[in-house]
Amino acid sequence: MALDFASLARQSGRDTSSVRVPKGADQPGSRVIHTLGSDELRQPARRVGKVDETTRDLARSMLRSMYAARGIGLAAPQIGEALQLLVIDLDPEEAATPPLVMINPTIHESGGELCAYEEGCLSIPGVYLQVVRPSRIDVTFRDEMGRPQRRKADGLLARCILHEMDHLSGVLFVDRVSDHSTLETELAEKGFDRDHVRPMT
Ligand code: ZN
Repeated sequence: MALDFASLARQSGRDTSSVRVPKGADQPGSRVIHTLGSDELRQPARRVGKVDETTRDLARSMLRSMYAARGIGLAAPQIGEALQLLVIDLDPEEAATPPLVMINPTIHESGGELCAYEEGCLSIPGVYLQVVRPSRIDVTFRDEMGRPQRRKADGLLARCILHEMDHLSGVLFVDRVSDHSTLETELAEKGFDRDHVRPMT
């Protein structure tokens, strides 16, 4: 999966050098990440119009915030920006692999098997639970230079894209957890209020 991610990131990110920031946990300028219970996480995100330097600045802030929190994905609403922008880096320890920046992503097809896999979220720190999602997706988006891109993804990358895209609709992974009793226990242990979950299953 890491290899797939590196090649996909390179293909779609020929100019990611324009948004890349040094990897690592020491990130000046990282932003506060909103956590479960914040209204910011429940707002639907607006499509990005023109992709310009302001958009790339936001992508840089998101990358810094993601690396500082040692995550592999972050969506703009998590730092309080209701815009359809997400960043992913499945190789956060590997300086040579560029991150993936996706603007206005749209799923055209999802398929393969439905797979259960443990997910976590920088907005619900410490909580890790099984979520069922399709294993393959076909997604279009604009990259950080505004160029249209179309990619197929599977495995961890597909899961990560779907998780981050949920944030753009105000959906959190805990909404998709079907094992409600384990969910309640986990949230209580980590100090979160289950009333902030909006169950979909
Ligand atoms: Zn998340």
